[in-house]
Amino acid sequence: MSQTYFQKGFGLKSVVGPVLAQNYDSTVVDRLKALGYVARAGDFTLKLAREFGFCYGVDRAVDYAYETRVKFPDRRLYLVGEIIHNPDVNGRLQAMGILILPEAKDPAERYREVGADDVVILPAFGVPVAERQHLHGKGCVLVDTTCGSVLNVWKNVHKYAAHGFTAVIHGKHYHEETKATASQALTHDGGQYLCVRDKDEASVVCAFLRGHAAADEMRARFAHAASPGFDPDRDLQRIGLANQTTMLMTESLEIQEMLRAAMRDRWGEEALAGRFRAFDTICSATQDRQDAVLRMLQEGGLDLMIVIGGYNSSNTQALTRICSEKLPTFHIDEPDCLSAEGIRHRRVGAHEEEQAADWLPAGPLRVGLTAGASTPNNVVGEVVARLLALRGVKPEQLQAV
Ligand code: SF4
Repeated sequence: MSQTYFQKGFGLKSVVGPVLAQNYDSTVVDRLKALGYVARAGDFTLKLAREFGFCYGVDRAVDYAYETRVKFPDRRLYLVGEIIHNPDVNGRLQAMGILILPEAKDPAERYREVGADDVVILPAFGVPVAERQHLHGKGCVLVDTTCGSVLNVWKNVHKYAAHGFTAVIHGKHYHEETKATASQALTHDGGQYLCVRDKDEASVVCAFLRGHAAADEMRARFAHAASPGFDPDRDLQRIGLANQTTMLMTESLEIQEMLRAAMRDRWGEEALAGRFRAFDTICSATQDRQDAVLRMLQEGGLDLMIVIGGYNSSNTQALTRICSEKLPTFHIDEPDCLSAEGIRHRRVGAHEEEQAADWLPAGPLRVGLTAGASTPNNVVGEVVARLLALRGVKPEQLQAV
């Protein structure tokens, strides 16, 4: 019987490597790096975060998708949702004939068109257990690019469920990764989960644990963010914390401490070890990017920040939040956001883009740049080129400060 599940690449790196470099590398970014991540041209001083853009998980997933196309040139090739949250990368994959399957509640509906002769790529965030099982049942080839850091979270959620702990996941309940992670809790009898998006939601859980909120209130508030049949009285007696890998690390740690304190108040210090578990599942790539931008802000000397990445990219949103607390910050998702008319961007927490006309003050300006883990260098480089062009300068004119 031929192999239908692949998780470790096809050994075609030497074939796809040059294509990947052509599609995603940037001479402008290389130049900025060579100049020490800070450079000057015309009125502009540009400073690039030391860690930005593609992470190891995204690198691997994109590489694997390209290898899959080469390996199965004649097969119909599907991708479960977006491989990562970046319009440029998803567009290139579609141009290679890879079909993106839109979300649907019911796996039978989502995968109706998929047949045994097809190949399906699972994205870096992973897919929920029920969908994976459904696809296995079809007999199609599965190419699994789930990131190792996501698999690590799953392992811990499994352990919680096996030991009778409800997984409390700091994440967005509608995000692909969080849905996949939550589904892991249900693979054990009695396994439960609760997704907590932010400190506001965590404080509702804390109020319940301290007896200041009713179970019905909890059920109503978390109707879409908890496991089926979730019973706060029964299912919050033992909790284990996990995170969507791309959340804001400082917020995850605060939520961890809020819940630890509430569990201590509810059950007492001595019982805490048997009722509360936590481990940090923010991935190192997310952490490195957040640390780098924090360092850059601490060093000071910047007038504004541009953060580049898909609007639905969680780690890009976290970078935007960090920056916007200190400086005027513009989250953009593509180079076209910059034009002579102004900048098209999205504010923290907003659902729509807005246009800002007078965003570039006249005279010398120091601009900081970073990009989310799903943003390739070519997009960063194009943004730099567009930005410089607004003042009639070319990337070749960038020089050391
Ligand atoms: S952000 Fe982290 S968890 Fe997500 S793909 Fe990248 S390395 Fe993996």
